[in-house]
Amino acid sequence: MSVNVLDTYRDCPFCLKLLYEPVSTLCGHTFCLLCLERFIIASDSILKCPICREDLTYLRSTSNHLKTNTILHNLFRQEYEKEYEMRRNELESIRKNIIKKRLIIGNTHQLLSCDYNHKQHEWTLFIRFDNDDQNDIGQYIKQIQINLHPTFTPSQIILDKPPFRLTRIGWGVFTVHISIEFHAKWNKSDLVTNWFLSFTNTGNHKVMEIGFQKSTDDITIN
Ligand SMILES: [Zn+2]
Ligand SMILES: [Zn+2]
Repeated sequence: MSVNVLDTYRDCPFCLKLLYEPVSTLCGHTFCLLCLERFIIASDSILKCPICREDLTYLRSTSNHLKTNTILHNLFRQEYEKEYEMRRNELESIRKNIIKKRLIIGNTHQLLSCDYNHKQHEWTLFIRFDNDDQNDIGQYIKQIQINLHPTFTPSQIILDKPPFRLTRIGWGVFTVHISIEFHAKWNKSDLVTNWFLSFTNTGNHKVMEIGFQKSTDDITIN
């Protein structure tokens, strides 16, 4: 392949440098893997391609791991050997300062009364890390605003410290609106998400992977 053709496509739209570990999104645009990861970390719940504005929210799902295009990766490494090596060193040092956490959102459920006319379900909504460490989650999440079905009084609840759990008794399922506020030091916008209550067996949950960028104050300079 002629280097001229590669030259046209070699730069990342985010960092404007040689694409390192290039990843293509479903809309066909290509970015450095780390640039895309950092973009996901920094964005609100709705993710849009910075080039074509196509919805990229699917990238947040843990089942969609970002994969490097190995052909491009090898081509760039071969054609721009020294520059690619420089990019590798540069990005490895940035990568060290990203902390990834797995957030689990769901509910437990217990049927209290089977009487057809008075079916009562007790449910507990929970938002936790997969390590279940309350001190750890408290370092990241400042508070969580929960909006229940308007028939609940109050229907808006603020959980301002871990464990982030809420137990209620009700007769039906509905969508709980959840807004997670992080501590200011993470410089991260609120994560807005939903959870549709599950009254199946003992409940259900979903997993979200979220990343936090250490601020420069936290980076130890040797
Ligand atoms: Zn980049
Ligand atoms: Zn695009």
